[in-house]
Amino acid sequence: MIPFEPSIKDQVAIVTGAGQGIGRGIALRLAQDGLCVVVADLKLAPAQAVVAEIESAGGKALAVGIDVTKIEDRQRAIQMALDSFQRFDGVVNNAGIQIASAPLEVTEAHWDAMMAVNAKAVWFMAQAAMKHFVARKSGRVVNVASIAGKMASTLYHPIYNVAKASVIAMTKTLAHAGATHGVRVNCVCPGVIETSMQDLVDTEFSRLSGKSAEQIRSDRLARIPMGMLGRPEEVADVVSFLVSPDARYMTGQALNVSGGMVMY
Ligand code: NAD
Repeated sequence: MIPFEPSIKDQVAIVTGAGQGIGRGIALRLAQDGLCVVVADLKLAPAQAVVAEIESAGGKALAVGIDVTKIEDRQRAIQMALDSFQRFDGVVNNAGIQIASAPLEVTEAHWDAMMAVNAKAVWFMAQAAMKHFVARKSGRVVNVASIAGKMASTLYHPIYNVAKASVIAMTKTLAHAGATHGVRVNCVCPGVIETSMQDLVDTEFSRLSGKSAEQIRSDRLARIPMGMLGRPEEVADVVSFLVSPDARYMTGQALNVSGGMVMY
């Protein structure tokens, strides 16, 4: 029998990097679904603004300023979820950074910074959450990877691709670890989503390639079969599904949200 998953209403989820962009979209959507959301971000003020938005719409949320690369900060976010809402049911590992570089110019500091936030913190946040979830025989982890982790061929963000490929790999390993304990682990692979990170990518690619940012964006648009960039809401809706009981027979999956840009 597939384990029964109760309604997510009044459950509690931590969303990292939720002060802006895709993370903000996910926090707003999960709050709309009835979850209490711990809005965790390196920058506390934007996280507090998202909490105010959720509360003004009648939802429940809590802001916490954390650096996902620090073990004590990850533990503090989990403890705050438990202290404030008396339960902890899900984590969305969304925080991520982008540093562009030509592959042969990558330094060890670049590698370490990218891997610390985009890969290592995802593993250890999921691991800390799963220890709690496995003990309760219930919980969901959703990691925000990227189609870059599947394509692994983009010229100017070589370590981003490596980190996101590892998020897809760790999602599968952790899915195995949780599978018989009522814990599901999946990831989403967004394509080109309109956020400040994407603006930064266009500016940096422009600097490295000598093309204009407008040219880079229109080249990218031409590679999206649906002919449109995505918005944070498009990713948030799929995360909402993966968190919900509708996805109760899904684990270890990497779902593309890319307007057809990647079809594998
Ligand atoms: P964004 O830069 O707009 O937002 C990222 C958020 O993460 C920011 O609020 C930032 O403060 C927070 N953050 C960064 N480092 C942190 C840390 N150490 N601890 C805690 N919080 C931290 O980016 P976005 O476009 O919304 O991206 C969100 C996620 O989606 C990232 O993992 C990104 O790699 C992924 N993604 C984005 C796109 C896209 O096109 N925008 C595509 C594929 C995947």
